[in-house]
Amino acid sequence: MNTPFENAMSQLDRAAGSMQLDAQLHARLRKPEKLHIVSLPVLMDDGSEKIFVGYRSQFNSILGLYKGGIRFADSVNADEVKALSFWMAIKTAAVGLPLGGGKGGVCVDPRSLSSAELERVSRAWVRALYDVIGPEKDVPAPDVATNPRVMGWMVDEYNQIAGVQTPAAFTGKDVSDGGVVARATSTSRGGFYLLEKIRQMHGKKPADMRVAIQGFGNAGMHMAQLVYDAGYTVVGVSDSRSSLISDGDCGIDPYKAQEVKKVHGSFAESPFENLCKERVRIGNSSDVITMDCDVLIPAAVENQITVHNAMEIQASLIIELANGPTTPEADRILEKRGVQVIPDVLANAGGVIVSYYEWYQNMHDEQWSEDETNEKLRVQISDAYMAISALCEEYKVSFRDGAFIHALLRMQKSLAASR
Ligand code: GLU
Repeated sequence: MNTPFENAMSQLDRAAGSMQLDAQLHARLRKPEKLHIVSLPVLMDDGSEKIFVGYRSQFNSILGLYKGGIRFADSVNADEVKALSFWMAIKTAAVGLPLGGGKGGVCVDPRSLSSAELERVSRAWVRALYDVIGPEKDVPAPDVATNPRVMGWMVDEYNQIAGVQTPAAFTGKDVSDGGVVARATSTSRGGFYLLEKIRQMHGKKPADMRVAIQGFGNAGMHMAQLVYDAGYTVVGVSDSRSSLISDGDCGIDPYKAQEVKKVHGSFAESPFENLCKERVRIGNSSDVITMDCDVLIPAAVENQITVHNAMEIQASLIIELANGPTTPEADRILEKRGVQVIPDVLANAGGVIVSYYEWYQNMHDEQWSEDETNEKLRVQISDAYMAISALCEEYKVSFRDGAFIHALLRMQKSLAASR
C-alpha cells in the first residue's frame, strides 16, 4: 500500500491534470515549506528519561498562517505529518478560510503514558517548537488522541515562555483556557450538516438512513450522537479493536456505547448485549466498513478503504470524517460503482472552521454564542459544498477532485495577485 503522502500527491496530480494547474504552484505543493523534526527528552515517572520524536510540518502559507492539529500516536512519522499538513492546506482553502496548512505530532502510544507523562510530552513539544509556532505564524489544535486538556498544557507552556497570555496560540482549548464550546463537536457537526443537506436533496427521512461509523474518538462518537439525535439509525460503530454491528435495523444507542466504552475501554471488552435496543454482534474493527448500511462514515485514520474492501462496501454515500481514509485506487473503484464520496477536505473541515472562529475571537477579544458559531459553520460549510458541486459539474469530476480544484484555484488566484 502507498504511504499517506504518496496518496496525497496522487490526489494532487489528478486534480491538477483536470484543471491545468499552474506548474509553479504544482511544484510548490509537492513539498512542505518546512518540516521540523525535534527530539523531546521527557522525564518518566520512574525517574528515567525517554526521548520521543516530535514533528511539525508547515506545508504551505499561501493563504495565511499555518493551521492544523497535533496527533499523538505510535504511527506518527514524517511521511504522515507531511500528508496531513498537505490535506490541511487543501482543506482550509476548499472551505474559504484565510489559512494555510500544517500538522504535527509525537510518535508515542499515549495509552502507555501516565497523565503526568502525557503532560510532560505535551509541554516538551511546545518547548522544542516554540520559535516556529505562534498566533501569527502557526496555530496548532487537537487531532487523534489529543484534546482540550492537552491544548491547555500546551498553551500554558507557550504563555510561560512568552511571558504573556496568548490564548490565540492554540485552538481546541477548554472554555476556561479561552476555547469555544462549539469546537468539541464541530468536526462532526460540519459532516452532519453536509449529510443533512444530501439527505434533503434525495428527499429521504432520517429514519430511512442506516449509518455505520468507523472510529469512536472525538469525531466518530459525536457524529454517532448527532445522527442518532436527528433520528437516523446507527447500525454499526467501531473502535480500534472491534465493531458493534446491529443485527436488525433497530440500531445502537451511541450514548450507551459511550458509557460502556468509558467503563470498559474498548467495545471488545464490554458487555455489549446490554448496549443496544436490539441484538448486536461483535466483529473485527474493520467489519463496520463493509456492513449493510446506507451511509458509511470513516472517522478513524488513513488507508481504511482500500482495493481490498472497496468492492464490498454496501453504503451508497461515504462521509470522510477521518483524514485520508480512502486510497486513490479505492476511490476509482467507488467512483465506478457510483458510491458518492464526500471527501475529508470538506467533510471534516468543521473542526478547522470552528478553530478559525476560536482564533479570531481570541485575537479580537470577542465572544460568540454557541448557536451563532454553529450557524456560521453551517453556512460556511454549505457554501463550500455548493461551490464545489458547481465545479464538479463544470469540470466533470468527482467531489474530491472538485474540492481540490476549488482549493487550488484559490491558491492560484492569491499567488497571481501577489506577483
Ligand atoms: N485536526 C483537525 C483536522 O484535521 C483540526 C485542525 C484545526 O482545528 O486546526 O482538521
